[in-house]
Amino acid sequence: MDKLRVRVYNVRFGDAILIFVPDKGVDGKTVTRHILIDVGNAASGEGGLDDVFNPVIKNIMEVLDGRGVDLYIMTHEHLDHVQGLLHANKKAFPQGNLSQKLKVEHAWLTASSAPDYYENFPQAKEQKFRALQAYTDLETLKANLAAANEPLPAAVLAIMEINNPRATKDCVDYLRNLTPKTWYVYRGCDLQGKHNFQEARFEIWAPEEDTSDYYGRFQPVTLGFAAAPGKAGKSIPVTPMPPPGVDAQAFYDLVKARKEGWADNLLAIDQAANNTSIVFCLEWRNWRLLFAADAETRSWKTMNR
Ligand SMILES: [Zn+2]
Repeated sequence: MDKLRVRVYNVRFGDAILIFVPDKGVDGKTVTRHILIDVGNAASGEGGLDDVFNPVIKNIMEVLDGRGVDLYIMTHEHLDHVQGLLHANKKAFPQGNLSQKLKVEHAWLTASSAPDYYENFPQAKEQKFRALQAYTDLETLKANLAAANEPLPAAVLAIMEINNPRATKDCVDYLRNLTPKTWYVYRGCDLQGKHNFQEARFEIWAPEEDTSDYYGRFQPVTLGFAAAPGKAGKSIPVTPMPPPGVDAQAFYDLVKARKEGWADNLLAIDQAANNTSIVFCLEWRNWRLLFAADAETRSWKTMNR
């Protein structure tokens, strides 16, 4: 019996998902087609943790065994989702020949990662500009605190790194060029000709093409030491408990940062990117599988509407 298989790699923080889909070949016989989602892990200095990452890439190459990826999907522009293939191309394939070994037929990237996107969506451009400005302020704050020997908590630095627009840019550039058949997709776009599946059907649930709705509010920040308690940020009356499986120290560091207010901006930047995640439903022989990436509440509310 044909089996659809979903292999979700443990990359700790990030995503790497390989889906094997039995489908009809041109001669009517069953072939296995492959969907690869993201491939990335949280940044640790230069390009990720090799001990986590290299076995994943190695396994992907082994199971594909020279067959191509029919559809590669970049869900959103966060480093822990986009940096894997560029990293592998530089390190695991030092000759830079990963793209010759990993053939990609079609690639779906978010509409908002298209090179000309912000020319066409001025409201989203304005929001993006505000997010970048808030990020620059956070970098100033980070530098000022480090100079005063009061570095930001490690968990905060990790979220900053994931959202670093400069580091992400190189990765997205690499992914844009995996194949000449790169499509910038969004809810409601016509998927005809944007994949080669015969039986499986795709439905994109999110994001909207105009992403301006996904941005939250940004607070003014104090760029030296933390703002006076309760001034910029909402105070948290009861100390919350870390959820199961979450590092307690990292959690309390984050709570402390939130109390100081400016961390709201970092979370707003993080959420805006998460809410541009491609959410898609894969329908195959009476099965419906939903892949939601990092979509957060605002995206789910929009989908609900
Ligand atoms: Zn994310």
